[in-house]
Amino acid sequence: MNKVFGLLMVCLLSFNMAWAQEERIPAKGFAVDSKEGHFHPYDFTRHAVGDNDILIEILYAGICHSDLSSVWSEHGKSNYPMVPGHEIVGRVIATGKNVSKFKTGDYAGVGCMVNSCGECADCKADMEQSCQKGPVFTYGFHDPYHDNEITMGGYSNNIVVSEDFAITVPAGADIKRVAPLLCAGVTTWSPLHYSNVKKGDKVGVAGFGGLGHMAVQYAVRLGAEVTVFDITEEKRDDAARLGAARYVNVNNPEDLKGLDNSFDFIISTIPLPYEPFMYVKMLKKGGDLAIVGLPENSTLDITAMAFQAPNRRVYASFIGGIKETQEMLDFSIANNIYPEVEIIKADAAEIENAYKSVLDGKVKFRYVIDMSTIDKK
Ligand SMILES: [Zn+2]
Ligand SMILES: [Zn+2]
Repeated sequence: MNKVFGLLMVCLLSFNMAWAQEERIPAKGFAVDSKEGHFHPYDFTRHAVGDNDILIEILYAGICHSDLSSVWSEHGKSNYPMVPGHEIVGRVIATGKNVSKFKTGDYAGVGCMVNSCGECADCKADMEQSCQKGPVFTYGFHDPYHDNEITMGGYSNNIVVSEDFAITVPAGADIKRVAPLLCAGVTTWSPLHYSNVKKGDKVGVAGFGGLGHMAVQYAVRLGAEVTVFDITEEKRDDAARLGAARYVNVNNPEDLKGLDNSFDFIISTIPLPYEPFMYVKMLKKGGDLAIVGLPENSTLDITAMAFQAPNRRVYASFIGGIKETQEMLDFSIANNIYPEVEIIKADAAEIENAYKSVLDGKVKFRYVIDMSTIDKK
């Protein structure tokens, strides 16, 4: 009898353990239900921690301009309810049995992607962001690797992600300011390296917001002479403080004089409709214009004249691969390069207020939500 009871216990116990590993993870966050963009507290679950996955307790989540576009369905209809957030940093609180990069207690970051096929030429070339089967973006996307569930982002208390898509946070990092590097950092870092920007180059940064202020810091650190372009007088001093040699208010015709044929590289982070030809003309022969900002409605009004500037390249750049994101983060922490952040509480009204400031261009330069302040009830 005892033997049978013992066997039953063993069976029950192993069944329990197997079940526990399959268990979905409860999560709390902030969601919007429509393009009206009203945030509310939202309880949901995440897929179980698989053998290659880590569970991260989110500490900070950045608010990226593209979150606004997604929330408001500006690039096509979004999936709702949506929990935005693709600038995530937190602490590892559980690991799957095959995980080797992280242990419990480590800091980890997550950026714009949480999965990709891993087998196509782009994935093999460390460019998961252009996976030919489509990368799985961190929120609002169907995840074919997890029953096609819709991904939920970082405005929440936790996330489950494959260790292959989690970034190691170097020791000594100022953890409050790390999250925006995972999108704004790598998005600007990547084209600066693709175009091989080096000491003495003349670099233009068009749009001086969350992305632009990172581009300025990286270009200055690489030894370039940096000119900032924006539409306000209010950021002139900030540009100088971050090391820019020159500030151009594009609404001021005087500022624009004498700039044609003078730049080796220009990065445009402008998130609003604008005319890129002005910047193409400013390139030297052989110069590059990298476009990383996504104007609303996804349209860029570019005149055919822009293609009559011989031997200048206009190219698209889109975030960066996981390997490149790790290189960017290691470089940033080692060189003390961080975004300038304003920390807000994990509260629906605060998030909506922050969105208004981002839209009005008032933020300097990135809002970061302190997710540890989320109402745990
Ligand atoms: Zn972003
Ligand atoms: Zn792929």
